[in-house]
Amino acid sequence: MADSEKDSQSSSTAPSNFIRNKIAEDLASNKHGGLVQTRFPPEPNGYLHIGHAKSICLNFSIAAQNNGSCNLRFDDTNPAKESQEFVDEIKNNIKWLGFDWSGKVRYSSNYFEHLYNFAMQLIENNLAYVCSLSPDQAREYRGSLTEPGTNSPDRDRSQAENIELFRRMRVGEFKDGSFSLRAKIDMASRNINMRDPVLYRIRHINHHQTGDKWCIYPTYDYTHCISDAIENVTHSLCTLEFEDHRPLYDWILQNLAIESLEKVSDLAGSIDNYVLPEQTEFAKLKLNYTMIGKRNLKEMIDTGVVKAWDDPRMPTLAGMRRRGFTAASIRNFCESVGVSRSESVVDMGMLEHSIREDLDKTAPRAMCVLNPLKLTIENVDADFVEKLSLQNHPKQESMGRREVPFTREVFIDRQDFEEKPPAGFKRLVLNGEVRLRGSYVIKCIEVIKDSAGEVIELVGSIDKDTLGKRPKGRKVKGVIHWVSASASIPVTVRLYDRLFNVENPDSKDIDDYRQCLNPNSLLTLENCRVEPSVIENGSSSFFQFEREGYFCVDEKDSRNNKMVFNRTITLRDSWSS
Ligand code: ATP
Ligand code: MG
Repeated sequence: MADSEKDSQSSSTAPSNFIRNKIAEDLASNKHGGLVQTRFPPEPNGYLHIGHAKSICLNFSIAAQNNGSCNLRFDDTNPAKESQEFVDEIKNNIKWLGFDWSGKVRYSSNYFEHLYNFAMQLIENNLAYVCSLSPDQAREYRGSLTEPGTNSPDRDRSQAENIELFRRMRVGEFKDGSFSLRAKIDMASRNINMRDPVLYRIRHINHHQTGDKWCIYPTYDYTHCISDAIENVTHSLCTLEFEDHRPLYDWILQNLAIESLEKVSDLAGSIDNYVLPEQTEFAKLKLNYTMIGKRNLKEMIDTGVVKAWDDPRMPTLAGMRRRGFTAASIRNFCESVGVSRSESVVDMGMLEHSIREDLDKTAPRAMCVLNPLKLTIENVDADFVEKLSLQNHPKQESMGRREVPFTREVFIDRQDFEEKPPAGFKRLVLNGEVRLRGSYVIKCIEVIKDSAGEVIELVGSIDKDTLGKRPKGRKVKGVIHWVSASASIPVTVRLYDRLFNVENPDSKDIDDYRQCLNPNSLLTLENCRVEPSVIENGSSSFFQFEREGYFCVDEKDSRNNKMVFNRTITLRDSWSS
């Protein structure tokens, strides 16, 4: 890994939070033998989103800061919704963010055999039973928040029978849903998760990792704690919705023979004091003006609201990357939102600020005219070409200079000319002057219109004594961007904006989030013109197009003969009033 990436895993300026403090205490008390082992456990049933980035940054950086390591483990117990495409994409995203997992990629499915044996152990200890209630019946028997549940009629099935039935479940003798394996805990528990939760269900489906080897699949709750134990995870960090599952996490591990866990663990035999992992919860990242749950994202794709998981309007890492977000900006954002136990909604402006801040420093400047209007300069010859030299970054000379050809015909943006200018208009008007950025001061002397009265061309003349110099005897306030008409290159530009125009599209007060889609979340402009250096230099794929915003090359849709640029973000926040 490159040094810069290493830094991202162990930024020494990371602010403290309750999890970092807890880990520091655990290290001080030698609770886990001085080890810090974390994991990031995505379910490969969709693309990663900005919420996952928070969890990734937390797990990987905490490990790195404490000389520990962080595993990548696919939580793949629900094959119906999972796929290899999602596995591959998740791995790419984590690397792109600048993190590297310890050792090989792990899968909960690697542990299916162990999980089966541990389930047998629970059965043998009279702590699990095979239940024949249908899913609907099981729901009825479960009770409610105010009423205790009812014992399953199969709760007292003999141990021998349970062993036999569970074995037969495994070999495929029963139909989906006909039996389940349940933990025998307490149907009257105030915590519904403890009312004899299901440990295994029958599903005759192919699995992306194990093929058709299994037709029973363990549940998330049963699998997660054991997988953590096998990997010697010391701190199992998850989001708050799992707080009520923590008693089950602990129950399962505490009811398995510790020697049997140690025997199958990664560090088997190499540690003196095997300690069970511990779950700690933190608040999920929530962001306004978007929806980030995978279920919502999938629905937006399925119903055509967006094009795909990597649509640049999506809060997925793939979408944000395509939109032009840098990994550093996402890491900085995750660091700055902090980690706590109280739920709050982060303002989208904060995410946008982090990308602006990064690109302001790193993006080379260039000129791109989004809505070209021809301006002919009558006092230079038809074949006139002057190669102007412009600095790539106003504050960083080290970013070098580029050549920008100036010719008799240039394009300016339609919006930079007004026939009837509003008060305070500082751009071009008939008989008025502006500076063409990095070039001369120009005066507009004629406006040409078509038969419908539309302005189709301007004629002007330059003051030849104003290149790099102030005009004599007068002040010219406005500066506009431009490109050479003959040397510029046509490109497509996509102007992206927030997907929703309300803060909380997911709110209960809104019947259908489709009613609050921002109609301007994507505006495609086909006839834009960039200065040639943007295409010809090939040294950068992202730019600040002066006065327009930050843009990046759309790697997927660009062709040699027509590049596509995505607007990452405007120059200023246009949303906060
Ligand atoms: P979603 O609700 O989008 O489906 P999930 O939690 O089901 O998310 P997983 O793949 O199971 O998705 O999550 C992997 C890890 O990422 C988990 O540890 C989960 O707690 C964490 N995570 C998911 N969403 C967020 C979020 N918004 N903020 C912080 N961490 C999150
Ligand atoms: Mg999930």
